[in-house]
Amino acid sequence: MKVVTSPVEMQSIALDLRGLGRTIGLVPTMGWFHEGHLSLMRKAKEVSEFVITSLFVNPLQFGPSEDLESYPYDLERDKELAAAVGVDILYAPDQELMYSGTFATNVHVEGLTEGLCGAARPGHFDGVTTVVAKLFNQTLPHFAVFGQKDFQQLAVIKRMVRDLDFPIEVIAHPIIREASGLAMSSRNSYLKVEDREAALSLSRGIAHAKELAGNPSIPVEKIKNCVRKFIEKHRECEVDYIEIVNTTSLQACDSINSESIILIAVKINNYIRLIDNSTLLPSS
Ligand code: AMP
Repeated sequence: MKVVTSPVEMQSIALDLRGLGRTIGLVPTMGWFHEGHLSLMRKAKEVSEFVITSLFVNPLQFGPSEDLESYPYDLERDKELAAAVGVDILYAPDQELMYSGTFATNVHVEGLTEGLCGAARPGHFDGVTTVVAKLFNQTLPHFAVFGQKDFQQLAVIKRMVRDLDFPIEVIAHPIIREASGLAMSSRNSYLKVEDREAALSLSRGIAHAKELAGNPSIPVEKIKNCVRKFIEKHRECEVDYIEIVNTTSLQACDSINSESIILIAVKINNYIRLIDNSTLLPSS
């Protein structure tokens, strides 16, 4: 596996690969790989001949009081993990080469970015779409694999790809969980043993919501309130949002159907922001 740090070199390799008729799959990440990331890389290998995983802790998508400085990073560790699943290039661009002093462009998707994580993290999705647009242009992929763990991000990227005519197929990959049910996340590395029960309340709250959603006489608001009460029993937890929305529009649902998804964001100990989601009924 080759490590590339220069955007110019990356794009030149991608152009050569395309010239040779090879299909390229991209998995954009911020590193500190776990099984969730690795499953995305395996998926990319299934659908493309050449797999690029990008590793870039993108400052544009972090707010001033967020965890940019403490975000876990270990290039050697991640190199080994990516090589072991057969990634061809680990693309870890230099920060200065990504954003020169005169960088002045912002990619903004309207509507889908306004609620949920967009409301809690102003500017976050602009940071995501701007960096992903750059990564797309640098790696020229045919396929890009994203996790459903970041469900709103996935919807926003799909819309950007459609609106800006990127010739890229976005592939959504299911959430990978620990045996306990906890959705894997690089931020789980911040959790102390004593925070685990609080962190597990997200997936357990979702399981509870699914049970309630099976009974059509229970209103949406009641389901949301039950999940909130369940999560808030843990004093470490501060609910940022619990919403039940349509999977495509991300607009609130009045009633539950096969396109309803529950999305949850919770801060543990006022610092560790975890998200999780699940559709509530089996798809029809
Ligand atoms: P991150 O490094 O957290 O920015 O995530 C990079 C990609 O991995 C995104 O597309 C995420 O949605 C995806 N991802 C993160 N955690 C998981 C997970 N537990 N299961 C599936 N995909 C994930």
